Amino acid sequence: MLRTFGKMREQAIGKVRRYFLLRFRKAYVAQQEKNRQGECNQCGNCCELLFKCPFLIKNDTGDTLCSIYENRPKQCAAFPIDTRCLSEVDFDCTYTFGTEPSILQIDNVQDR
Ligand code: SF4
Ligand code: SF4
Repeated sequence: MLRTFGKMREQAIGKVRRYFLLRFRKAYVAQQEKNRQGECNQCGNCCELLFKCPFLIKNDTGDTLCSIYENRPKQCAAFPIDTRCLSEVDFDCTYTFGTEPSILQIDNVQDR
């Protein structure tokens, strides 16, 4: 997959951002999980962000499989957290989101 420098930069920032959200913005991630609609079609696009994950198996028909699915990292299971994640795979993902609250809105509710 050919990527521009801009796309690689976006995907690198996205990986760091998801790590940060999962670690420090758990309420936002939980809320977004409820907002998320659709199902994974196992395209594997999110397994090739920045680089192809060594645990990704692709068969001849183009189907993909995670060889450590039961033990995959939280970041994998959480993808996509929000619309910004979808932009990293050029919206070529079968999950969508309804209206997204901001992280600050959720943090404010949690603090009350
Ligand atoms: S990009 Fe979306 S549809 Fe494709 S494997 Fe990842 S979560 Fe599933
Ligand atoms: S560990 Fe599995 S789900 Fe996570 S990126 Fe690799 S192949 Fe995809």
